[in-house]
Amino acid sequence: MTIIKKRFQKKKVCRFCTEKIDIDYKDARLLGQFITERGKIMPRRMTGTCAKHQRHLATAIKTARVIALLPFSKGQ
Ligand SMILES: [Zn+2]
Repeated sequence: MTIIKKRFQKKKVCRFCTEKIDIDYKDARLLGQFITERGKIMPRRMTGTCAKHQRHLATAIKTARVIALLPFSKGQ
């Protein structure tokens, strides 16, 4: 089973910790990098975001959806 290589071998570091980014629900461009094209929040194992920031991020994305900066995931 060596054919299947891990696709997401990017460094597993939290961008918000390393770059000291403040999570802002108004920053749709930033949040957009952490949602799929279907509008779902990306799982931590894909982004490497730490638990603390993943939680903040989820809150920010939900807030952004409410004020219509980001789409709700389809089928909701
Ligand atoms: Zn972090």
